[in-house]
Amino acid sequence: MLLKEIKNIFHKELDGSYDKAEVDSFFYLLIEHYLGLERFVLALQPNLTINKKEEQPLFEALAQLRLHRPIQYIIGKSHFMDMDFSVDGTVLIPRPETEELVRWIIEELDPIKSPVRSKRSTILDIGTGSGCIAVSLAKNLPNYEVHALDVSLGALHTARSNAKANDVDVTFVEIDILDIETSAVNSEDSTIEYDIMVSNPPYVREQEKKDMHKNVIDHEPGLALFVSDENPLKFYEAIATFASKKLKKNGSLYLEINQYLAKETEHLLRKHNLSEIELRKDMFGNFRMMKGVNLKL
Ligand code: GLN
Repeated sequence: MLLKEIKNIFHKELDGSYDKAEVDSFFYLLIEHYLGLERFVLALQPNLTINKKEEQPLFEALAQLRLHRPIQYIIGKSHFMDMDFSVDGTVLIPRPETEELVRWIIEELDPIKSPVRSKRSTILDIGTGSGCIAVSLAKNLPNYEVHALDVSLGALHTARSNAKANDVDVTFVEIDILDIETSAVNSEDSTIEYDIMVSNPPYVREQEKKDMHKNVIDHEPGLALFVSDENPLKFYEAIATFASKKLKKNGSLYLEINQYLAKETEHLLRKHNLSEIELRKDMFGNFRMMKGVNLKL
């Protein structure tokens, strides 16, 4: 079939559900991914035809796009901090807001700006998912040791392969942050203390689901996204409790937060003796990131 005919079929089938430009970008991504064709190929060879075998993955992808399956899950990869990350239904697709959180940390820990450390410092990423935060920090801050935990074995499997593919060392551990009180890393004899903690925990309330796209609600892991309306900060409570014990003096906790709960999140951090609170907006103008410092007495 002519490639341009397939492109027309994509528009016919998808234009009601997506922007035209979005459909174009799906199409070009798919021909690049499955057939190795550049996006300008149609301009150069308007009558390019592909055979049945080559058509097949494109039509399979089209069927999935009609079901609002995210394109990143269809091709199995996503882009974050100029690196490729494998993604599947066990992990959230990395978001641009989360890149902003990572950039904030890198900016503040940049080895050129911060004094040389005699002992290796350690960063902990709580609820790592695809590993995008942990892996990109390890890549950009080679002087830091990076540890990451998640409750989901599927996510840890994906995160490990992402660390490997991007050629960095990250120590991954299976832990439920809500149970961390009883786990080994939290015991009195565990001497490890972290210089930095970071987390993008679940924070979308049930009542906010109505503002979300079908591709997120139907396909991304609810475990990584949703919290109850009654106790929306339960992960923040567990993280702050842990941080107040295991973050070094003057160590910082960086969080992605629910834009509507900035005040409540700040209050919670202060309750756990985290101070010098800083709040930042994301590129969409929403209160999205918060930092607190452990000023242990
Ligand atoms: N910001 C994400 C979204 O819009 C939610 C991420 C999270 O819950 N940690 O889907």
